[in-house]
Amino acid sequence: MNISTIGILGRPNVGKSTLFNRLLGKQKSIVAPIEGVTRDRIVDKIEWLDKEFMLIDTGGYIPKSNDLIEKQVKLQAEVASKESDILLLVVDGKEDITSSDQSLVQIIHELGKPCILVINKVDDKKQEKNVYDFYSLGIQNIVFISAQNGRQVGLLLDKIYNLLPNEIHKKQSNDISFAIVGMPNVGKSSLMNALLDEEKSIVTDIAGTTRDSIDSYIKHNKKIIRIIDTAGLRKKTKIVDSIEFFSSVRTFRVIDDCNIAAVMIDADKGFNTQDKNIIRYIVDRGKGVIILVNKWDLIVKETNTMKEMKDDIISFYPYLQHHPILFISVKNKFRLDKILNNVIAIHSKTIDKIKTSDLNCLLENITRKYPPPSIQGKQIKLNYITQVSSFPLVFAIYTNYPRLISVAYKRYLDNQIRANFDLSGLPGKISFRKK
Ligand code: GDP
Ligand code: GDP
Repeated sequence: MNISTIGILGRPNVGKSTLFNRLLGKQKSIVAPIEGVTRDRIVDKIEWLDKEFMLIDTGGYIPKSNDLIEKQVKLQAEVASKESDILLLVVDGKEDITSSDQSLVQIIHELGKPCILVINKVDDKKQEKNVYDFYSLGIQNIVFISAQNGRQVGLLLDKIYNLLPNEIHKKQSNDISFAIVGMPNVGKSSLMNALLDEEKSIVTDIAGTTRDSIDSYIKHNKKIIRIIDTAGLRKKTKIVDSIEFFSSVRTFRVIDDCNIAAVMIDADKGFNTQDKNIIRYIVDRGKGVIILVNKWDLIVKETNTMKEMKDDIISFYPYLQHHPILFISVKNKFRLDKILNNVIAIHSKTIDKIKTSDLNCLLENITRKYPPPSIQGKQIKLNYITQVSSFPLVFAIYTNYPRLISVAYKRYLDNQIRANFDLSGLPGKISFRKK
């Protein structure tokens, strides 16, 4: 089932991006990723109590044109109607109602989707009495908040919680669901068609939910793989300049829906920065990852071409050294079987946990070879390691000083674990806990 998606609407400067970041900051992060996370996304997943939802920040999109407000309203109408299940309309509690607030309310009323009116910039209690005019907008579900200082944001989360359907509890299904993502024209649809042609497509035309997507199920080496329809990534938008915005929103949502993602690039063009952002999101979410370098037929090959290109990719994003990088040609049907073999191999690693005794044996060896450096005169001891979960892959290490482990040492541990156990394709995290 698709995860509920919440669109944050509101005219420029009411505080949408501030709210987006505040909501992301509110959720408890259980484990810290090994690499730093930069939040330059316009879509992210939020977990609150036992439910989760996707959040879209339309404030992160700045149209390159003069008629800014009109464009924003058009863009938001499209986000509201096509991408969202629940809407948050943000207004500025320090100002009067404007005609753009009213246009947005009109759109919301026509759509009839559940909506919360978020009156922002109510930084303290005494400002609450200035905002009763907003009741005239006709939205019943209202909350006064300050996105900037966090006032009443918990109450807003409770209101969101109440609107989310009950059956979407946090869970990661153990089915194999595979998505192919990447920039336009790298060959995603061609690959999807080739895989469906080649493999026995067992069930088709299972209509998706409201979002008119049709996933396909294929059987490969006796395993059933759900291939997520990514046609939506190409859907046309009528708003000039916003193709990138929508393609990005849809890509992040597809990633959340899958458990293994292939990021496809064009061998001739290489990576761009958005690819890196996409990979980082997959890694943060703990989903399986494969890199596909397509159009290999176009490259004039010499002895070391593949190795050189692989080195280039790894120097662009060192984290990828731990994950499969396949050079393929959809056009010539070259190495396509390797893709699904890798998907199944990654998935099979998520079924069994590594034995705790094997992990501790390794921990002893690696800390003997290179003990954690003392910091602030404190001698750090790593006492015990265990695998907490397989999908997402999380290890816990018990130590006397969980906060003093350096980033370099964390990376060393991660590399050592990976060198000893085959975890290729599975992003992982180490959680340091107080013994
Ligand atoms: P957006 O264009 O709707 O995404 O708005 P931003 O999040 O960029 O915020 C616009 C301005 O309002 C920024 O200067 C914020 O610092 C300010 N702002 C956002 N939330 C609050 C708030 O709760 N109280 C006050 N006083 N200012 C806020
Ligand atoms: P999408 O936008 O990522 O879904 O890309 P498409 O599947 O529509 O492919 C874009 C273009 O690249 C089309 O003209 C394809 O025929 C071409 N293409 C796809 N795969 C290959 C390949 O392996 N080699 C070459 N030379 N062209 C390819």
